[in-house]
Amino acid sequence: MVYTCRDMSHRIDLPLLHDHHTHTSLYAALEGLPDLRGLAAGEARALLAAQPRDRLGLVKGWRNDRLALGAADLAELPPLVIVNASLHGHALTPAALPFVAELWPEFAERWADPAWAERNLPRLFVFYGRVAGLGPEKLAAHMGALEAVGLGSTEDLITAGSEALAVIAASPYRDRVSSWATPEVYETLSASERAALRGVKLFVDGSLGAKSAALGRPFLGGEPGVLVRDGNRLGGDVLRAASDGAGVAVHAIGELAVELAIRAFETARREGLSIPLARIEHAQFITRDQAFRARDLGVVLSMQPNFNADSVDYVDRLPAPLPERNDPFRMLIDEAGFVPGRDLVFGSDGMPHGPENALQWSLFPAVPGQRLSLDELIAGYGPARGIGSPLAGGGITLSIDDDARTVRLLAPERTES
Ligand SMILES: [Zn+2]
Repeated sequence: MVYTCRDMSHRIDLPLLHDHHTHTSLYAALEGLPDLRGLAAGEARALLAAQPRDRLGLVKGWRNDRLALGAADLAELPPLVIVNASLHGHALTPAALPFVAELWPEFAERWADPAWAERNLPRLFVFYGRVAGLGPEKLAAHMGALEAVGLGSTEDLITAGSEALAVIAASPYRDRVSSWATPEVYETLSASERAALRGVKLFVDGSLGAKSAALGRPFLGGEPGVLVRDGNRLGGDVLRAASDGAGVAVHAIGELAVELAIRAFETARREGLSIPLARIEHAQFITRDQAFRARDLGVVLSMQPNFNADSVDYVDRLPAPLPERNDPFRMLIDEAGFVPGRDLVFGSDGMPHGPENALQWSLFPAVPGQRLSLDELIAGYGPARGIGSPLAGGGITLSIDDDARTVRLLAPERTES
């Protein structure tokens, strides 16, 4: 009798990597705040009720699909902004309204309107960040947590503004976090703050979670998708950023949104404006034709392999053949000629952070055209930036099991003292 070892797992060591798309000032500000994640309904209600009554607070990790909070529930609670774990969706308690009305009157009036919230997501991120507040300890806690999952540096796609930039600039993470600003925040920054930015972040469509991405066709439930910026406004914003010498990152998930982004970059080129860095964020449903045009324009695609999961998670809303067309990495690399690390870069959007999940979905995707090799994924993330010698030994170990089709982060080995 022959015994064959069926254990196909092997270990790989990875250096700390660079996350091209996350929300550092927001996630760091949320560090240490009361968290509803994993709590049973009774525990969650008790935690909400126990928050301070004399000031506005923020509670994170809500799952509005699991814990219903009606008007009667909210009426009892302290002044709170309660934010969904996905960062899409929130509730305000009546006690919070006077505080919010002072900070952002429009939000106090329209917080319960989901369409308004989806259109104003970037402003909500900035608001959450400001209410939560960022300090050096929170930043250090967040960056430490990222290191533990294999990330050494990040790009913050929506900086909360001057105060957050100042906290980062005064910290040891100065060279490890680079920031992007929405046009509204960009307007409030000084010339030197602007010069230190990667660029301006512009939104064209919404999200798959909220069924507001501009797919160019309706969702299965009939939702048409949302253009939060039409082609004219996008073109104007791109030209303004370009003439200021700023980079431009355009959030575009659906095919229609990607089309508007590429047209805006084509127009900028026709006008003779060079953009130091032109990126499309997400680009999940980019077509073959669009890929070739973007490639010729020198556009960088900033994508998140963990969102390959949308092909499985969102079959309830994506019309055929879109689940198969999500994140077409093989087409982008093998046909259109994108090169990971050069004009195809990877990140997480914090959903979740770190290469473990990204590698799981890259090596073992549900859709074959999404497959990335280990080398392609690592090249697309690239090595962590701004890390001096004290951290040179950082990194993580992953266990890859080709049989079970799993990738697992191994706990760092304990060093004997
Ligand atoms: Zn994002």
